[in-house]
Amino acid sequence: MLTQSNNNDAIAKQLAALKQVCNTLGAYIYTKDIQGRYTYANRAVLKLFNKSLEEVIGCDDTQFFDLDISSHIKENDNQVMQTATVINAEETNYIKSSGEQRIYHTVKSPLFDDDGRVCGICGISTDITTEKRLRDLNHEQKQLLDTVLNNIPACVYIKDEERRFLYANSKVSALFERPITEIIGQLETSILPKDIAAHFHESDAKVFKTKSIQRIEETVIDNVGNTVHYLSVKVPITINNKCAVIGFSTDVTELYELKEQFRQQANTDYLTNLYNRRYFIEQAEREFTRSQRHALPLTIISIDIDHFKHINDNYGHPFGDKILIDISEQLLQGTRQEDVVARIGGDEFAIMLPNTTRSQGTSLAERIQKQLQAHDFSATTDDLKVAVSIGITVLSGTDTCFDELLLRVDKALYQAKNKGRNQVVYL
Ligand code: GH3
Ligand code: MG
Repeated sequence: MLTQSNNNDAIAKQLAALKQVCNTLGAYIYTKDIQGRYTYANRAVLKLFNKSLEEVIGCDDTQFFDLDISSHIKENDNQVMQTATVINAEETNYIKSSGEQRIYHTVKSPLFDDDGRVCGICGISTDITTEKRLRDLNHEQKQLLDTVLNNIPACVYIKDEERRFLYANSKVSALFERPITEIIGQLETSILPKDIAAHFHESDAKVFKTKSIQRIEETVIDNVGNTVHYLSVKVPITINNKCAVIGFSTDVTELYELKEQFRQQANTDYLTNLYNRRYFIEQAEREFTRSQRHALPLTIISIDIDHFKHINDNYGHPFGDKILIDISEQLLQGTRQEDVVARIGGDEFAIMLPNTTRSQGTSLAERIQKQLQAHDFSATTDDLKVAVSIGITVLSGTDTCFDELLLRVDKALYQAKNKGRNQVVYL
């Protein structure tokens, strides 16, 4: 008798301890009988329902939840009991007493009687509403970011210090001609040609070294052999406590080509396509300094058509234009790649001859003079002759700037005109 009482005490103690555990676990714990009526509910469940244990025991979920939710719960409960298996489910519950919607991760296990028959279920539900909302928000934000990054007209990528891609948007995928999944996680050296990878890495390395933003122009040959120019902004960032670089490379090929076109136009004479006066002076000043520094000879030739006004008057301005074009072609044919041939005035041309001595320059000037004089400029059977006067000078040890050479060559040309034209004068 005494033993029985001791035994009961022990069981009561164990039960009390078990209840305490159930109440402190931070989860909703409950058991239901085969009809789905509560046989136990821990403190969290009672608090949620705003009921006492006595009010909950014997009731089913229709008392506490809306019909559609309680039938969904019942479905899950029945599945556990009919199949005698454990289920893991996400349940959304709308709590009647508080009017709020909560999301739970629920594990439901069958309970068995002494004969091994299913007699109910035991459920443990953890409230994951906050985590779920955060996860959903995170997912939504990731989708939003992906939409933005995949639709901006730029390649966006993240690389770590080992040159491994941590991120690549759809523009990068199109450029490299491989799916994003085959870019992320790969080393750039393993998916790009050696020279391109090295080219990209040059500025990446600078970002890692200086820890500062780099803005650079990058050139890539695309899959069909076209040269594509990118304006890249590379920014240092930290991901998982490691240094990385995020890059934004915008295709500026059109702009680049336009800029090149404008630059070329700004340097070119519209009629003859020779360089213009501005470009000639710019190059000549540079060459003057270089020749002086390296003690190299430098020759400047100035050519002016004799009595060009008469040609315009007699044959018309458009014909005069043709002569200017014709002379330009002759000058180009007679000079080297490194010489700069320019139209520096209406009917005035200039040639800069780097690394050319006085005697070499003079013989070229004389050859030009004779060649032009002998040339038949008429497009018809008339034999139209055009003569030119030429001034020539070379860099001397006393010259301090290119203007001095220019003045001297002008003077030489002036003397050639004064001496009766159609000749070369050296000064
Ligand atoms: P000179 O022997 O003294 O050089 O006599 P010139 O008639 O050639 O006189 P000058 O060099 O002073 O005049 C240049 C002429 O070139 C004046 C202008 O009518 C003509 N000219 C200037 N630019 C153009 C052009 O773009 N096309 C044509 N057709 N003629 C031009
Ligand atoms: Mg002239």
